[in-house]
Amino acid sequence: MSLAAHKIRLIMQLRQAGIADTAVLAAIERIPREHFVPEAFQDQAYENRTLPIGHGQTLSAPEVVATMTQALKADRRMKVLEIGMGSGYQTAVLSRLSRRVYSVERYRDLLRGAEERLLALRLHNITARVGDGWQGWPEQAPFHRIIVTAAAPEVPAKLVDQLGPGGIMVVPVGAQGREQDLLRVSRDDEGGLHEERLCGVRFVPLVAFSGGQAGGAAGGSASGSLA
Ligand code: SAH
Repeated sequence: MSLAAHKIRLIMQLRQAGIADTAVLAAIERIPREHFVPEAFQDQAYENRTLPIGHGQTLSAPEVVATMTQALKADRRMKVLEIGMGSGYQTAVLSRLSRRVYSVERYRDLLRGAEERLLALRLHNITARVGDGWQGWPEQAPFHRIIVTAAAPEVPAKLVDQLGPGGIMVVPVGAQGREQDLLRVSRDDEGGLHEERLCGVRFVPLVAFSGGQAGGAAGGSASGSLA
């Protein structure tokens, strides 16, 4: 089967899995996942599975990307913060569904690779920097939407602080090495917070930076479990 045929099969699988948001499906159809996948895994670019991207990190399975993106309910007027740029695939999908994506990644070479891929695809509404995701991006806050693509032992408080009124954050929460809860944290217009569990997921850990800056984070190595 060709990559194009695999892609059509994947979109059907996503529909069957309950992804009904046509804008999300269209964004996934438009972004070439093979562009974000290492050479050795090209033939698996449209399989519904996680793939390694170096540094012990992983590109999430398409169903997880679709589920998180759908849960985020982003639109073209919105400023989105992404924590954990990795390959840049999720960033690319979000760039088609928002005004601008701000992305934070701890590994400089992953970030550089991601930026090159996004530029090659002419996706320009993205600003990325190397940094500690636990801190968010206070200079650009508040955000309409925040997506965290690594698992935190608890909902990162500083990210909640950077969520504007009516904002939504999607974040995997739980211990590394076993299933975590994918949570949606919503801030209502009065500032109140609501939390709901969407499903179980497996992500690499949102690593705590040394130097005590990553408030509340349990230590973690970059070579954790697969997303
Ligand atoms: N969204 C990515 C998947 C990334 S895997 C994709 O589509 O490819 C998780 C990413 O989070 C990794 O790139 C990892 O380096 C990054 N990460 C982990 N802890 C972090 C932290 N504290 N700050 C910033 N990035 C972090």
